[in-house]
Amino acid sequence: MYALRQWSVRHARGLNAFYKAFESALVMLHPLWKWLGYERLERPVAAVERTVKGLLFDCRMCGQCILSSTGMSCPMNCPKSLRNGPCGGVRANGHCEVRPEMRCVWLDAVAGSARIPGGPDALRQVQHAVDRRLQGRSSWLRVVRQRTGDAP
Ligand code: SF4
Repeated sequence: MYALRQWSVRHARGLNAFYKAFESALVMLHPLWKWLGYERLERPVAAVERTVKGLLFDCRMCGQCILSSTGMSCPMNCPKSLRNGPCGGVRANGHCEVRPEMRCVWLDAVAGSARIPGGPDALRQVQHAVDRRLQGRSSWLRVVRQRTGDAP
């Protein structure tokens, strides 16, 4: 929902702090996830993630979340799926050239990042191209597996 997405950018600092705590809790529970089986957990966790992040960020479940680097503005809402900043078509009023009713997600990313400690530096990091093989998978589980060295 667009209004909620905008709210999330305005509250990027609090949401980012909440996510960091949530991620740490998920990492701590790694032995449990491993015992239950990551592949078995994939569908139910992805379903929860899709619901929560869909509501707050209009998440498209790219499977490689970078919200913490983009001020809680999901770059996959860019009609061109740009992951490293805006195209040259941002309108004078800051809206998207493809979807004029929508503010450019990258202008939101700049605004949201400014609210997060270290956000502007994170925003400057170059992001990899989207790996479409991860579409629909849980970013939460992926991050835990990366942080615990359990990535497949
Ligand atoms: S970056 Fe990917 S996982 Fe994160 S909110 Fe956007 S579509 Fe969802």
